[in-house]
Amino acid sequence: MIQNAKAVPFRLASREECPQDTRVQVGRVTIGDGHVVVMAGPCAVESEEQLLECARAVRRAGAAVLRGGAFKPRTSPYSFQGLGEEGLALLAAARQKSGLPVITEVLDPRQVEQVSRCADILQIGTRNMQNFSLLHEVALAGKPVLLKRGQSATIEEWLCAAEYIMAAGNRQVLLCERGIRGFDPLLRNTLDLSAVAVVKQLTHLPVVVDPSHAVGRARFVPAMARAALAAGADGLLIEVHPCPEKALCDGQQSLTPEAFAALMGQLRALARAMGRDVVTVC
Ligand code: PEP
Ligand code: MN
Repeated sequence: MIQNAKAVPFRLASREECPQDTRVQVGRVTIGDGHVVVMAGPCAVESEEQLLECARAVRRAGAAVLRGGAFKPRTSPYSFQGLGEEGLALLAAARQKSGLPVITEVLDPRQVEQVSRCADILQIGTRNMQNFSLLHEVALAGKPVLLKRGQSATIEEWLCAAEYIMAAGNRQVLLCERGIRGFDPLLRNTLDLSAVAVVKQLTHLPVVVDPSHAVGRARFVPAMARAALAAGADGLLIEVHPCPEKALCDGQQSLTPEAFAALMGQLRALARAMGRDVVTVC
């Protein structure tokens, strides 16, 4: 068959295909209905105590979803790679104890089934945005997928990656802007907030912003979280650690529970000013 070279590279994800906003259902939480959903927790699951303390703190502050990595994609093979299976079991227990749905990353197509058993949302990390066999496998898992933008991916490449998941039968896709490669060493990445406006127009999928990986420094996270909300994000993904200086991964960008609670207060005020609400799990 001769392919039409002018064909739109993504179709199912496009606003033209579906003018109405997609709503992604995660337990009792809806993402994409105009309310603001905050997902928070540690970069990596480190221990039962660390995860439970974090889960309690973020829930108390008003987060609706608990984040935590069991399998960690690290730049160096000598860095902490996550607790793996043990981390998944801790996430399942924290999910039960806190009542919060859980988002966690899956790195390998062979792990999708195992990770899906405890995850309410499957996270595809920036390094795997174009891992097409992984995209295909998560599509078949029947769980919502949060697709992070590749660190050097154009918006079109990102939407094409979402299209892979949708074309394989899973329409429950969340797009996550987490910063793209910049040139300034003072920041880990450059948060592309213009992408939020563009993607909200080009697609009907909910957009989540991760200010933590974008700026890489805890002190800049609150300003970028507020800016993301103002730009129209449907949700935020924020790293919080009970003791950031002791974190095994990404401590320098993790908020303390106190800083997170203060930020949540600001987000609620900002949401109200925009005629929106921050969703809590009661
Ligand atoms: C994460 O969320 O912990 C993570 C590894 O993010 P990213 O893929 O955006 O680097
Ligand atoms: Mn991290």
